[in-house]
Amino acid sequence: MISSDVILPMHKKDLLPPNRRDRSLFIFMVVGIPFAVLWEGCVVLPNYHTHFSTIVLIHFLASCFIVFNIFGNMYLLKRVDASGKQKSLPAILKQEWRYCHLCELNSPPRSYHCPICNECILKRDHHCMFVGCCVGYHNQRYYLLTILYIWIGAIYGVSYQWDYCFQHLGGLRPGSVLILIAPHFAWVFGAVSSFGFLVAVLHTLGIVVLVVTSYLLLIQLLVILYGQTQYERKHNIESYNLGFKCNLLDVLGTRWYFVWLFPWIPSTQNGDGLHFFNVSDLENVKNI
Ligand SMILES: [Zn+2]
Ligand SMILES: [Zn+2]
Repeated sequence: MISSDVILPMHKKDLLPPNRRDRSLFIFMVVGIPFAVLWEGCVVLPNYHTHFSTIVLIHFLASCFIVFNIFGNMYLLKRVDASGKQKSLPAILKQEWRYCHLCELNSPPRSYHCPICNECILKRDHHCMFVGCCVGYHNQRYYLLTILYIWIGAIYGVSYQWDYCFQHLGGLRPGSVLILIAPHFAWVFGAVSSFGFLVAVLHTLGIVVLVVTSYLLLIQLLVILYGQTQYERKHNIESYNLGFKCNLLDVLGTRWYFVWLFPWIPSTQNGDGLHFFNVSDLENVKNI
């Protein structure tokens, strides 16, 4: 459990997203990831190892660790309340704050209203359609680590089944690459068996997941590097850039070096999601 000194605001919303697009993608993730692991463990692995050995045990433990971190971080990403509803928001509109007519609340700087979640999110980064919730000040740590572990899992899975895949597609040759690009055409025209079609589809899907998570991870690293949200990055706002270490600590908390290992490790953030140190204010004071 998260210890009492770092209790994060939690909500009790349904884990299944209400929006149809988000719900479909969420179910795809929740079903697809365990399916991919079972595929690797029950179909691909016996092809390489006929008997139980230390290597098999290492693969089993590594897979459990990755899957646990994906779903643990994903669960907390959804459970931690990224909105400011559980905070005592001021009744009077402060400087740089805005009034949100939809929430009927005063909204702090960097907070934006999400039309899908229908609430203002503190330091809103973006709405994640694969999980069906917004990423903000209090849950960005879990988003970053969910993507990181899916990315690690995709590298692991794709590289592990590489030989197995090309073994079923007739070796690494231009024809096999074409089968991977359009497995449905290859199957319809009889270039590949039904099982070969399944192998090709899963391998292509693994590569797609790897490319997408690499892109999402790169965006997260850039916004954390410059202390920005995705909105601020698009609009070249660098007013909250405190340097890479402070920016990283602001997202991952004081135990940033441990949070990679276990999603429930408490790690206190220095801020409250309502007040941010504005670097441009400091520069203005210097110039007076
Ligand atoms: Zn709002
Ligand atoms: Zn949202």
